[in-house]
Amino acid sequence: MYRTHTNGELNLSHQNQKVTLSGWVQTIRDKGFVMWIDLRDRYGITQLVLDEKRSSTELFEIARNLGREFVIQVKGEVKERESKNPNISTGDIEILAEEIIILNTAQTPPFTIENETDGGEELRMQYRYLDIRRNPVKEKLIFRHQVAQKVRKYLSEEGFIEVETPVLIKSTPEGARDFVVPSRMNPGQFYALPQSPQTFKQLLMVGGLDKYFQIVKCFRDEDLRADRQPEFTQIDCEMAFVEQEDILNVFEGLTKSLLKDIKGIEIDKFPRMTYEEAMKTYGNDKPDIRFGMKFCELTPFVKGKNFNVFDSEELIVGIAAPNCANYTRKEIDAIIDWVKRPQIGAKGLVWVKYNTDKTLKSSVDKFYSEEDLKVWAEKMQANPGDLLLIMAGDEKNTRKQLSELRMEMAKRLNLRNPEEFAPLWVVDFPLLEWDDETQRWHAMHHPFTAPKPEDLEKLQSAPGEIRANAYDLVLNGNEIGGGSIRIFNKELQSNMFQLLGFSPEEAQAQFGFLMNAFEYGAPPHGGIAFGFDRLVSILKGSETIRDFIAFPKNNAGRDVMINTPAPLTDEQLDEIHILVKNQEKQRNN
Ligand code: ASP
Repeated sequence: MYRTHTNGELNLSHQNQKVTLSGWVQTIRDKGFVMWIDLRDRYGITQLVLDEKRSSTELFEIARNLGREFVIQVKGEVKERESKNPNISTGDIEILAEEIIILNTAQTPPFTIENETDGGEELRMQYRYLDIRRNPVKEKLIFRHQVAQKVRKYLSEEGFIEVETPVLIKSTPEGARDFVVPSRMNPGQFYALPQSPQTFKQLLMVGGLDKYFQIVKCFRDEDLRADRQPEFTQIDCEMAFVEQEDILNVFEGLTKSLLKDIKGIEIDKFPRMTYEEAMKTYGNDKPDIRFGMKFCELTPFVKGKNFNVFDSEELIVGIAAPNCANYTRKEIDAIIDWVKRPQIGAKGLVWVKYNTDKTLKSSVDKFYSEEDLKVWAEKMQANPGDLLLIMAGDEKNTRKQLSELRMEMAKRLNLRNPEEFAPLWVVDFPLLEWDDETQRWHAMHHPFTAPKPEDLEKLQSAPGEIRANAYDLVLNGNEIGGGSIRIFNKELQSNMFQLLGFSPEEAQAQFGFLMNAFEYGAPPHGGIAFGFDRLVSILKGSETIRDFIAFPKNNAGRDVMINTPAPLTDEQLDEIHILVKNQEKQRNN
C-alpha cells in the first residue's frame, strides 16, 4: 500500500499513529542536526521531520540525497509540531520519519512549483504537467470539475438527458471555418469536426428525446484572437415544444443556481434588454452592466454652431466618466491617444469638464457657450465632477469605439469588480446581417434560427429588419450563452437557405438530411449553448479561459507541449490520399 493517508489529512487527532504517506518533495530544510521535508500531493502538504536524537544516520543519508520533486514514500509517526503553521490543514502536526523509499527521482524542474512561480507562460505550457502540480492551476481544474458536476445535476433533475453526438461529421455553419479530417477509406473525402452539435441536437428533438444536453468539445478554425481556443467546451442544450420564454426560464434557473451554489449570490430576476436597446445604450450586444456610463445621444443638441465635426457627422454620442473632471491635460491627452490607436480607430474626442463647482470647461469652448455645455451635461444626467467624453462619426463605428472607451474607463476607474455578478439577457437579435465583403446576407446566429412570426412578412421586402427569436446570456460583459428558437418547417428552412445565397442543390447537398427530417413530424424546438470554459473562468473571477483548460493551445493555435500541429510522413499522407506540394513536384519530375 503506497499510503494510508493523503498529505492534506492528518491533524492532532492522529497523534502517535503510524502512517504511510506518498508524494512529491516540495522543499528540504537541512539544519544539520534536524531536517524538515515538505511532502506534497493534490490534497496538501505534510511536514516530515528527521532529528539526530530519534533518527538513524542511514535515514539522514537517504534524506540528503533527495531533490525537489522526487517521488517518495514515507513511513513514520504523527507528532505534535512545536511551531505550528495555521495556514495549512496539517499545520499542527509533523511526521517523524522512520523509513523513506524513493519511488522515482526527478530532474530540477524548469520553474518553481509554488503558488507564485518564476516560470513564463511558454515554459509553463511546455511543462504543463509540472504547472498542474501548482496549487492555483490544480484548484482551477478542480473548480471546473465542480461546475460541470453541478450543471449535470441541475439539468438531469430538470429532465434533460446527456447524449453524445459524433465528432466526425459534415460542416456545421456557425460562422467559422471547419477543421477537417481526411478519410482514408473514402479517397478525396473529408469529415469536418463539429463547430457545435447544432444539427444533431435538432435531430434528437425530431427523434422525440424532448430535452437534451451535452458538455461537449467544439472546434472552430478561426483567426486567433487573444483568449480564443480552437477547441473549446460548450454546455449544449435543446428542448422540444418550447417558446423563447421557456428556454430563458430554464437557463436562468441554471445560471442562478450556479451563482448561488458557487458564489453565494442570489439574483432575483435577470434583466432583459433588446439588441437594439443594448446597441443604443452601450454600443455593444454584450454590455457590462455592473457600472453606468450609459450612452447619451447628443446629435439634435449640438448641430448648427459652426463646429464642423459635429455638423457633418451622423451620430454624436457621449458618456459621463464619474469623478474625472479633475483629470489633468496630460491624463485627457492619454485618453485621446488611446481612442486614436489603430485598434480603436477614432479620429478624436471632445471632452467637457463638469467641475464640482458646476462650471463647465471643454475642448470646444470656441463653438459652444457654457449654457450649451450645461444642456449637454443635463441630457447626459452627469453629476458635478464628471468628465464628459463625446465622439462623433457614423453610427456603427462610433458606437463601437465609444463602447471600447467605456470599458477602458471602467478598467481605469476599477469599476469591473470580479466579485460582482450582473447577468443580462439580450433578446430580439436581428435574423440577418449584411456582409459588405461578400455582398450578401449572413445569418446573425445561424441559418436554423426562426424569424419572429410577426416579422415573417418582411422576408422578401426588408430582410434586414427581421428580428429573430434569438437570445444571448451576458455576464459581466461576456457572452456566456446564446441560442434561438429554430425553424422546424421544411419550406421556411429552404427559403432561409435561399436568402443566404445557397442554391436549392447546395442546400439539399449540405442540409438535405435536416430538411428531410422536418418532413417527418418535427416538433417546435429551440435551445441554447453556454461557453463552458468562459463560464467557469468568470465564476472564478478571472477572464483568462486558458487557465481553466488542462492542456490549452497558445495564441498561435499550437500545443507547445506535444508540439502540434506537426507534419505527417509521406506514407501517412499517401494513405489518406493527400499530395503535398513538394511531393507533387517530386512525382512530376
Ligand atoms: N449552436 C449554437 C452555438 O454554438 C447555440 C445554439 O443555437 O443553441 O452558438
